Amino acid sequence: MALPCPFCRTPLGIDLTFILKHPISVCPNCRTVLDFTVDPEIKKKFDDAIKEIDDIKKKYKGIAKFG
Ligand SMILES: [Zn+2]
Repeated sequence: MALPCPFCRTPLGIDLTFILKHPISVCPNCRTVLDFTVDPEIKKKFDDAIKEIDDIKKKYKGIAKFG
């Protein structure tokens, strides 16, 4: 799941896992500093989303193939 820059909508080519590891990024297009550490609620949503993806993968393991 790639995220667009919230300001200029440029696809950043980063995903939730990357953001959790690098909470402060700079948009390569508009140079806006994207500080994902400011809102703990956002971080929680990321954690939940990652867990959800893992759960789905586990649930369908053996039924569907990923990748
Ligand atoms: Zn941007």
